[in-house]
This record gives sequence, structure tokens and C-alpha cells, in this order.
Amino acid sequence: MMIPYGKHEISKEDKEAILEVLESNFLTQGPKVPEFEKLLADKVGAKFAVAVNSATSALHIACLSIGLKAGDRLWTTPISFVASANCGLYCGAKVEFVDIDPLTNNICVKALEKKLSEAKAANALPKIVVAVHFSGFSCDMKQLFALSQKYAFEIIEDASHALGGLYYDEYIGCCHYSTVTVFSLHPVKIITTGEGGIAITNNKNIEQKMRLYAGHGITRDPKMMVGTPDGPWHYEQVELGYNYRMTDIQAALGISQSQRLDQFVAKRNELATNYDKMLDGFPVTLPAADKKVYSSRHLYVLRLNLEEIKVTRLETFNYLRKHGVGVAVHYIPITHHPFFAQMGYDNTYLPEADRFYQQAITLPLFPSMTDHQQNTVVNTLRDALSAAG
Ligand SMILES: *Cc1c(COP(=O)(O)O)cnc(C)c1O
Repeated sequence: MMIPYGKHEISKEDKEAILEVLESNFLTQGPKVPEFEKLLADKVGAKFAVAVNSATSALHIACLSIGLKAGDRLWTTPISFVASANCGLYCGAKVEFVDIDPLTNNICVKALEKKLSEAKAANALPKIVVAVHFSGFSCDMKQLFALSQKYAFEIIEDASHALGGLYYDEYIGCCHYSTVTVFSLHPVKIITTGEGGIAITNNKNIEQKMRLYAGHGITRDPKMMVGTPDGPWHYEQVELGYNYRMTDIQAALGISQSQRLDQFVAKRNELATNYDKMLDGFPVTLPAADKKVYSSRHLYVLRLNLEEIKVTRLETFNYLRKHGVGVAVHYIPITHHPFFAQMGYDNTYLPEADRFYQQAITLPLFPSMTDHQQNTVVNTLRDALSAAG
């Protein structure tokens, strides 16, 4: 059987939590969603959380609430899942990409600074920069924050990979350096609600707007209404919103999974440290390490030192898959996708992203991974890399 690259873990308590909701009066819009929101906001040390049906939705309502619209710009990294960019397009904004730093594979602060100073001269500054904590390894938020002050843009942290990770000993999501942080709760991510996402902020106004956009643009709060209520039944649609709600069934699973968040991340770190040791001397570049960052280790991404080996990435990938190791590639640069290419994006100004894409391979890593499975992965990789091309 194939060792998967990622795998969720469901406990007896998780199942009981879901059954309890199924037997209650509310499958959705009951008490579990607010309980989950408070739990996660408290956990990461922020004021507000808005739980929705995906991180993609969370990114969308974050952009809308910041006021992103046609004519505006959103910048992000090309090495991410497409949702990090699509949220800008949903709002009619122009999306632009900034190359990555080859050490962290996150958005490159130097490249960003250069692009900002050019954009300032051209009157083409972004309204939003989406900072993606690739693989769970935090971007250098202090530096990004300093640039956001200098050039007057808002930061959204796409922390889909990074729940439970730390930056300078604070949980990702505390929003000390951003307006909104978004987490994904898809089954391959750190904890899951089946599908799901959550947007975190310390800004009350942004929180209220995100709630509005996630619920059809409808308010029942007289203070947010344009007119005076006709009666106690009254509600008003004051914006064009969406149905992005999370169900109580999902929230109950999220609450139950949250109890094991630190445990999951500790286990992921233990496995990643094992990989680091076992792969010592292999013709590969290991994931970055940095004292100020405690990665959630969502993905264990290697770069193959192609000039030292006789095989290509494709051959390495196929060999591993053929021998039961479910490797993956994260990510195809967003600009490579036909939808983006047809819009005129090319990758010639993103050389580090392209270099990364030639070399990257993601090894299996998930909390229930056994020593035996990890040994199998490493031994199979050794065979793959020494196989004659
Ligand atoms: C998974 C992921 C998303 C989208 O998450 P969904 O919850 O599936 O919508 C967005 N950005 C990144 C970086 C992701 O990895």
C-alpha cells in the first residue's frame, strides 16, 4: 500500500463529538461554530475568528473586508496553492507575483522591496500582500510588516499550512504583523473539519465585515442596518455576500481536533527532525531551519541537488511512487497554470520559483507515520537517487 504524503487522524473523541451534534437541535448555525471560533482565537492569541467552509472562502472575505476591488492590486508568491492568488481575482483586482527566497521558499523580502519601490514610482502599489507560510515555515513577518508600514498595504497571512507554528514564540495567527490570518482545515492540513477554513483578526470592524460577507451580506444587528427595523423579524441585506458558513458538525470536529493540535505539530517536528538526520549526506537540500521559527511542518519539501545526481526529478518521483512512497510536488508555480498563462503571466521574472519547481519533491509526513514507514521512505529515496538515469 502506498504511504500517503499526508493523512488526517480521526479519534474516538472526534467521532463522539460529531455524533453529539447529529443528535442535537442544530446541524448548522448552533452553538458549536462560535465555540470553535473562540477556542481558536484564544489558542493563537487573537481577538476574533470567523469560521467558514474553506480557507479559499476565508481569503475571499478577508480581501472583501479590506476593501479590495477592481483597479486594486494584490501581490503574492507563485509557490502556493492557487487560492492565494484567486482571492484577488474574485474581487476584480489585478494579481501580481513576487519571486521566492530560495532558502525558505517563502516570498522574498528583497524582491518584494524592489518591486514596491518600482511600483511606488509607477503609482502601482498593492492594496494587499498575501504572505504564504510555505510548508508551515513562517515568513519573516517583522520585515514584511515594516514594508507594509512604509508602502501602506495590508497583509493577509495565508497560514493554511501553519496552524500550530510559532514565530518569535508567538502562535501564527496572533496577527501582530497582519490584518487577517487564514487557516485551512482541509484533511491534509494540520487539523481538519472535513472542509473548512477560519479567518483570524484583531480588528473588530474587519471581523464584522467578514461575518457579513460570509452570510449573504445579511445583518440582524440594528446598528448595522441602513433603515429602521420593521419589527423583531427584520433583517437587512446591506452588501452582496455569500453562503460561506461552516456547519456545527464541522465545528464539533474542529473543537475535538484542536485538543490535539500541539501534539500533532510536535509529532510532525519529531518526524521532520528524523528526516533531517536520516537524509544527512544525501544529494538534497533540506528544509530551512531558523531559531525564530517553529514550523508546523505541514510539508516536508526537499530540493534535489540535480547537478550531483544522474536522475531527474521526474524519474525520482516515478521511482518512489512505483515503490509505494506517495511523494508529491508542492507547488507548480501559479503562473504556469493555463488560466494564468492565458492572462499573459509568464515566469521569466520569477527565476527562483522556476528553479524551485525543477527540484522540489514532498516526502510523506503525517502524525500517525511509523518509524518503519519513515525508514521505507528514506531507503527508497536512496535507491531512487542512486539509480542510473
Ligand atoms: C490548502 C490551501 C488553501 C486552500 O484551502 P481550502 O481550505 O482547501 O480552501 C489556500 N492556500 C494554501 C497555501 C493552501 O495550502
